[in-house]
This record gives sequence, C-alpha cells and structure tokens, in this order.
Amino acid sequence: MVDGYGELSLFIDGQWLGGDGRETSAVRNPATGAVLGHLPHATRADLDHALDSSKRAFGIWRRTSAYDRAKILRRTAELLRDRRDRIATKLTMEQGKPFFEAQYELNSSADYFEWFAEEGRRAYGRVVPARREGVQQLVKREPIGPVAAFSPWNFPAITPTRKIAAALAAGCSVIIKPGEECPATALEIAKALEEAGLPPGVLNVVFGDPAEISSRLIASPITRKVSFTGSVPVGRHLSRVAGQALKPISLELGGHAPVIVCSDANVELAATVLAAGKFRGTGQICLSPTRILVDRSIYEKFLELFVRATLALKIGNGLEEGTNVGPLSNERRLKAIEELVSNARNEGARVVAGGEPVVGPGLFYKPTILAEVPSSARIMHEEPFGPIAVVQPFDSLDDAIEESNRLPYGLAAYAFTESARTAIRIGNEFEAGMIGINHTNMIVCELPFGGVKDSGHGSEGGAEGIQSYLVNKFISQV
Ligand code: NAD
Repeated sequence: MVDGYGELSLFIDGQWLGGDGRETSAVRNPATGAVLGHLPHATRADLDHALDSSKRAFGIWRRTSAYDRAKILRRTAELLRDRRDRIATKLTMEQGKPFFEAQYELNSSADYFEWFAEEGRRAYGRVVPARREGVQQLVKREPIGPVAAFSPWNFPAITPTRKIAAALAAGCSVIIKPGEECPATALEIAKALEEAGLPPGVLNVVFGDPAEISSRLIASPITRKVSFTGSVPVGRHLSRVAGQALKPISLELGGHAPVIVCSDANVELAATVLAAGKFRGTGQICLSPTRILVDRSIYEKFLELFVRATLALKIGNGLEEGTNVGPLSNERRLKAIEELVSNARNEGARVVAGGEPVVGPGLFYKPTILAEVPSSARIMHEEPFGPIAVVQPFDSLDDAIEESNRLPYGLAAYAFTESARTAIRIGNEFEAGMIGINHTNMIVCELPFGGVKDSGHGSEGGAEGIQSYLVNKFISQV
C-alpha cells in the first residue's frame, strides 16, 4: 500500500469487500507509473448481492422523509469538506490533475450534496382542480427506483457525486460503477455517506469489467433507471441496452467545444482564459474548448498571446507546488493524442506549441496548439479529450457560427465579445447545452449540466438534476 492512498475495496450492502480471491487490477499513478493499489473486481455473486441490497434498501430509503434524507446529505457535505485535502491527495495520485484542481473538485462535490439535499425537500407535486365536486386529484413525484450509474475517471469526485446526490435526494438507491482508474475518490465519498448515516445498501460501489457490469445491472428487473457519463460510442451502446430493457437513461457524453473570438473581444482576456480552460485537467474535460475560431483582424495577435499564456503553464506532478498541467490519466489518452497530432501534421497543420510528449517517466504530453488545420485532419472531427487546441481564422460571424455547429456534438460552446448584441446572437444560435460568454467555468451545482445532439440528454445539477430520478403518480379520489 502506498502512503496516503489506502486500501481499495468494493462497497456492497454496507460492507467493505477486499480482494478475498477476487480478480484485481492495478491502479497506477499516471505522473510516475507507480502502482498505488490493487482494485478488487466484483464477481457475478457480488453484483447480485448489490442488486438485492439495492432493492431492499430502496424500500427503506423511499420511506425515509425528505427532511431526514437531507440531513444525511448535508452531513456528507460537511465530512467531505473536513477531509478535503486528504481525499484531494488521493485524487491527484490516481488521476494526475494538480492538487488545487482536486481541492476544487472536493469543494464542488460538497456543494452538490448540499444542493441536492435541499432539492429533495422541494420535490413538490400538485393538486389539480377536478371536473366535479368531491373529487381530489393529486400528482405526486416519487423516486423512480434503484439506479445503475456509471461515472468516468476524469472528474473522480464530481461525476459520481452528481449522480449519487441527485438520486439519493429523490429517494432512490444507487449502484455505481466509477472509473477503474480512479476508485479511491469514489470510495471516500461512499465512506462519508456511510458515516453520515446512510443505511446499508442504499449506495453500493462496484468495479470490474465495465461491459459485464453494465449489461448485468441494466438487464436486471431491479434496476429502474440508468445514468452514464463517458464517451459517445459507449453512450450509444448503453442506450441500446437500456432501450431493450425499457429503462430510461441519462447520458452525459463527449464534446468538441467551439470558441468564437470576435474582433471586439478583449484579446488578452480571451488568450489567458482559454489557455487555462483548454489545458485544465490536461484537456480531459468534456467541456474543454477545442476549436478556437478567431476573427482574422485579431488572429495573429490572439495566437501570439495564446501561445505565450500556454507556454507559461507549468507541466508536472500534480502534487508539486505550482503545477498547472498534470499528466494524461491513462495510456489510451496518450496514444490517442499522439495519433491526432501526427495525423494533423501529415495533413498540413502548423504546430505552434507542443506537439510532443515530455521525455521522462509519466504520461505527460506538452500542451499543444495547432493552427490552420485542414478540415481533412481527424482533430477537426474527433474529440481530442486531451491537451490539443486548434486555432483557425474566420472572416464573418455567419461562417464562425456555421463552423461551430458543424459537428454532431453539442455540449459546451464559448464566445468572447464585448458586444451585448453579438453575445445574444451567439447565445441563441449555438447548438450546445452550455454556453460561456467571456469565460469557461461551467460546473456549478445550481445550474443544469448537460448537452444536446450526440453529447447526450438529461441534466445533472440545477433544479433539473433531480427530475430524472422522479416519476409522476396521479391519485384521483372521490
Ligand atoms: P471509453 O469509451 O473506453 O470509456 C469511457 C467511460 O465509459 C469509462 O469510464 C469506461 O469505464 C466506461 N465504459 C466503457 N465501456 C463501458 C460499458 N460497456 N458499460 C459501462 N461503462 C463503460 O473511453 P476512455 O478511453 O475511458 O475515455 C475517453 C473517452 O471518453 C473520450 O473520448 C471522452 O469522450 C469520453 N469521456 C467523456 C467524459 C465526459 O465527461 N463526458 C468523461 C470521461 C471520458
């Protein structure tokens, strides 16, 4: 066991289950390659145990008052805040992002627990006027039932939290399979919930082969709702599996966010904000700004400032003071980034910064800026999910908006302009679920988070976030 990382386990029916003859996989620190621990994989019997306990616990939890559920969720938020730096250290060790980003994630998770604690108390129904006297018509909002949730490795605290907090606030039980690369953070969240008083079985945490787990959990008649965050191909696959089983599914998938930098933009602000936003999380963020379209009249100036701000970012181990950009989180991403850059080069793109891995241990790749990239290059169509920004000039706002909406993705889109009129037009015409004008910080618990088109459907967060875990029941009484 590595200092500060701790043992890994499954969490089923209130029990912490270790190796005990189960298959395991190694969890590595992407900054050093060191093995941090061994993650037990759930057996079929474990999954059945999780399903049975989820069914039993749903019977208890749905009858627990929204007031009492809120107390447990609020206490969880407090525990996460108290333990922030300890958990953030584990998060950085397993995911690679800078420690300050990991701290931000824990703060944000605590905020989500608090937010949904209160939203659960506001899951109001309606009394609908009847057509004849003496009839009472109620519309109740009830928890949909046990949830199967799948969260990824890029935000190891926020992505499981958004699903768990909303579902628990609604009165649902949850079986979650977080990303296998970053299990310790999700287990710490489960620990905080357990210590805050969550009854056994209301939350189960399992790991293992993603396809095996999802097919078993989604097909089970116990599961009533599915929620997935990850890539478009896996989302499409799970959508089919859930459709076959007639289960509703919420999907938060990939993106290829466009940015329009208008001629009247504050160019310094745009360059600095975009360098920080693009390379945050080493670009492994679904909201990451990727195609930066700049009015030709300010193109060279923007490019110069953007390159300068990017080169000023310090690459390194996230636990070292001053690090802005950590490693990629797994070998798959490093390989994908190398291939995208090499393809763009071969197609004739200009590599203005980076364009190569960092020599030495760890999965580091230099923040990369590609300019004047031909539309034949893969990066112009495929989500990089890594540290690559593309910068292109445009001649008219119409062209820029058309290019922004060209891809099937529709998650985030950004613009920089000092004109209120232009901001309103762009806000209206972008085909995206989340739009940032003059900034890129979109993860806030009180706002809906989610995309349109191939980027998925359903919102996590905001007043909307609890709705997909509730169903309507009308009771008409004479
Ligand atoms: P991937 O497609 O292999 O997996 C994406 C996620 O889905 C992982 O967490 C994985 O454990 C899970 N998964 C894979 N197959 C599954 C299955 N059959 N059932 C349930 N879960 C399954 O890609 P990857 O290499 O892990 O990540 C890179 C891609 O994932 C990127 O292209 C990006 O689009 C996407 N991604 C998106 C987000 C997001 O926030 N929307 C987060 C992480 C990854």
